[in-house]
Amino acid sequence: MPLFQLGLTIMPETGVSVGGSGHTGTRADNTILRDGQERPIMPASQVKGRLRHACEALVRAAGIPTCRPPNPEQVCPQDLSITNPPCLICSLFGSPWHASVLQFQDLVQESLFEAIRPGIGVERRRGIVQERLLFLTETTAPGSELFFYNAQAITGNLAAKEQALLLLAGLHSIRQWGGAKSRGLGWATLDCEARWNDQIIELDQDGKGELAEWLKTAIAS
Ligand SMILES: [Zn+2]
Repeated sequence: MPLFQLGLTIMPETGVSVGGSGHTGTRADNTILRDGQERPIMPASQVKGRLRHACEALVRAAGIPTCRPPNPEQVCPQDLSITNPPCLICSLFGSPWHASVLQFQDLVQESLFEAIRPGIGVERRRGIVQERLLFLTETTAPGSELFFYNAQAITGNLAAKEQALLLLAGLHSIRQWGGAKSRGLGWATLDCEARWNDQIIELDQDGKGELAEWLKTAIAS
């Protein structure tokens, strides 16, 4: 089956808070996740989770039913036979009974620059700022020179080129990464270098057209 490979760069426009409280040795409430070399990372699990959610939204918007994890009654059934194939989303991202065809890897920020960003705690019910809730959130510093990257962020064997196009469309629909989104963190642009079956795959006009046609066929079947 043809190989899909995607190099992904996430370029923060604001600071990105990639969660994980409970770390010690920092003043911040929410610390940045780091790899073994102390480099900030965007964890593979977050990329996978966000991308699955984004692709579900696109597929549903095209009128194709998909299952709705994690509710067990609303996910693809255990019997994923030829006569009972998984939904379009589970066929890519897997289900409790069906391995994902995709592998995700952490994105790594090569630079060690970081900023302690003062945050204001808002008591949401009353909508007022309370001084005692003043806290600090450790984030990656904004700036175009900083980015999260992995040349092999997503890899896997995909039967159809349109599956690769769906993944690209999903990625481009995600505007915010990391936690603390309500505080305006995590806005980012991204850059994808995708290859499928040794071809460069781009979500240009032709790519968008092919994806739309494929989704129409998927409704019909
Ligand atoms: Zn499913």
